[in-house]
Amino acid sequence: MPDRDPATGGESKGLEQAVRGGEVERAGSGGSAPAVRRSLLPAPGQGFGVTFAQMFKKVTTEQYPETPKVTKPRYHGRHVLNRHPDGLEKCVGCELCAWACPADAIYVEGGDNTEDARFSPGERYGAVYQINYLRCIFCGLCIEACPTRSLTMSNDFELADDDRQSLIYTKEQLMAPLLPGMEAPPHAMRLGDDEKAYYLREPESGSAAEPVTAERA
Ligand code: SF4
Ligand code: SF4
Repeated sequence: MPDRDPATGGESKGLEQAVRGGEVERAGSGGSAPAVRRSLLPAPGQGFGVTFAQMFKKVTTEQYPETPKVTKPRYHGRHVLNRHPDGLEKCVGCELCAWACPADAIYVEGGDNTEDARFSPGERYGAVYQINYLRCIFCGLCIEACPTRSLTMSNDFELADDDRQSLIYTKEQLMAPLLPGMEAPPHAMRLGDDEKAYYLREPESGSAAEPVTAERA
């Protein structure tokens, strides 16, 4: 049964096409002139011509994962919990990242450092730290909120998994690896007697800041 045009009550003419030989006619498009295919080749030759022309065009297909994708330098990928130069953790368990997260993807539990078991400079450290990558939208608000620059984002985007549980990353998975010269916590503060040595640095002799200080004095 033919389509009925609700406006006219007659048969729909909108997209009706009739192909006759090498010509294409479009009826009812508001004008009486038909659309005409101008090629002299028969239809199969035109089809193969399109395929043949593609062989000489630049290939845009990316051979991923055989050829790894290189992201932009500031791409927001998987998070990293960073360390101080002596290996102590920068996270102080303040939970500001969790409060800043619009997707409620971060869970933090702070713990108290003791002289026998010190994981970070100062009083507190992140005892439990989890990021749920089923929720995370990689907006970066958490790293903006972090007062110690503990939390940053890497370029790693390969987070797909077929197990929901494994997409909740734990502190152990997020911690930055120990670099040469670093010592695995817990251990005493190696950079000074208190946490100020980790956050406050004296201007180096001959630095650009010195002349300004002298002028003001
Ligand atoms: S990147 Fe955004 S969504 Fe993901 S954990 Fe950080 S604040 Fe939450
Ligand atoms: S990552 Fe930063 S903001 Fe989050 S709990 Fe640790 S110190 Fe606080």
